[in-house]
Amino acid sequence: MKRLLIMGAPGAGKGTQASLIKNEYNIAHISTGDMFREAISNKTPVGLEAKVYIDNGQLVPDEITIRLVEERLKASDCKGGFLLDGYPRTIAQAQALDLMLKKLGIKLDGVINIKTDDLVLIDRITGRRSCPVCKEGYHIKSKKPTVEGVCDVCGATLIQRADDNEETVKNRLEVYHNQTAPVLDYYSKQNIVIDVDGMKDISDVFEEVKVKLGGNK
Ligand code: ADP
Ligand code: ADP
Ligand code: ZN
Repeated sequence: MKRLLIMGAPGAGKGTQASLIKNEYNIAHISTGDMFREAISNKTPVGLEAKVYIDNGQLVPDEITIRLVEERLKASDCKGGFLLDGYPRTIAQAQALDLMLKKLGIKLDGVINIKTDDLVLIDRITGRRSCPVCKEGYHIKSKKPTVEGVCDVCGATLIQRADDNEETVKNRLEVYHNQTAPVLDYYSKQNIVIDVDGMKDISDVFEEVKVKLGGNK
């Protein structure tokens, strides 16, 4: 049983590693980015409000995001462990998470931090493709589907995220350094950060994650 966070800059490989980790450890994968994209495509009130921020590469306000995660963590599939991907992204969110966990009587086992150079992120983000149906992630150079533009897993047509353009990427990197990087210091003080080298190949990064997380599925 594991209760984990995965952190890293936009494009660092959080979603890619999260999907491998969730299968290996059989835990719930909670991606706030995926939840917002789902809300946008369903045109829910949260989706309509979040869209403006996401399209501009800004963070969705804490109040909305915190409420979304609080609801999600109460779901029964989180009882056997979870991996939060893309949350918390601000100190206020980290503090709110601490409070939620305290109420639930549980603690985090670790915070996986995928370390990358900013230089590779633009390429990773602009080359990212994803499956709108099963959410499998691809890359036009580093993780090509067998047939161009088609999901290997379910056959759906791959899409490019609306916010994956060079203009928003600059904002997202700035937001990451100003607002999200301090969250790492917050967890460093709790001595639970697990650094991994995100510059290696996808499978090598995953090997490092597994070695550092250890057994105890
Ligand atoms: P994040 O969730 O952190 O934004 P993703 O997991 O979506 O990042 O990865 C961003 C893009 O980079 C995707 O297209 C993915 O296939 C690719 N990618 C992920 N990890 C690596 C890696 N270690 N090396 C090369 N490309 C990667
Ligand atoms: P990336 O893969 O680039 O790291 P995500 O898919 O995690 O991006 O998130 C996409 C967008 O959704 C973010 O740029 C932000 O606007 C919004 N978002 C996701 N998680 C959060 C959060 N915890 N707080 C505020 N906004 C968020
Ligand atoms: Zn698919």
